[in-house]
Amino acid sequence: MKGGVLALLLALPVLAVTVKPFPVATPARLALTRQYCLRHYGRDSAALAAPQIIVIHATEVQTLEASLQAFKADKLPPARKDLRAGGELNVGVHFVVDRNGDIYSLLPLDLVGRHVIGFNYTAIGIENVGFSGHLTPAQLDANAALVEDLVQRLPSLHYLIGHYEYTDRSLPHYALFLERAADYRLTQKSDPGKDFMKKLRVLLGKHGVMMEP
Ligand SMILES: [Zn+2]
Repeated sequence: MKGGVLALLLALPVLAVTVKPFPVATPARLALTRQYCLRHYGRDSAALAAPQIIVIHATEVQTLEASLQAFKADKLPPARKDLRAGGELNVGVHFVVDRNGDIYSLLPLDLVGRHVIGFNYTAIGIENVGFSGHLTPAQLDANAALVEDLVQRLPSLHYLIGHYEYTDRSLPHYALFLERAADYRLTQKSDPGKDFMKKLRVLLGKHGVMMEP
């Protein structure tokens, strides 16, 4: 009996992550997500089942409020002409990390978000507020804690990439690339920066979390 209790205690996560809710999933978004998945992945479902990749982003928007608002609408705003060819569904992620390290939960973990062309069907998205070459130490710590927590909860997660790495065919995650719409082009990204991903991987390594790029 005592041995059983000890085993349970040892299995508890090292880091506890506090997440603030900012839910954006609506019935309309669900329907648009389902359309997106059918068109781009040939799957008539908005479900994110057994996700394999975590993608780290930065919003290039300097405030939390503006960052959260960008993901709130179900449909793309008129300004995103670049993405309209891919469908009406607005961009969306599962988490937003503020400059002070506060973590906000937007999409449920079992719903596909539109944040990385070719991989949304199997990817969890984490956005960081701001960028221009610099994210904060608090954001670095929060991203590491969040990734560690996600990996413990979802054993299917195997790859961790920065958005700028998603088009790199030489990286292992690229084997999962799937895009059925021939006219939907890959884009060039720089977020969240090479320096941030390098530091994040070092920090995760110290916690024993090793993920392939
Ligand atoms: Zn991005």
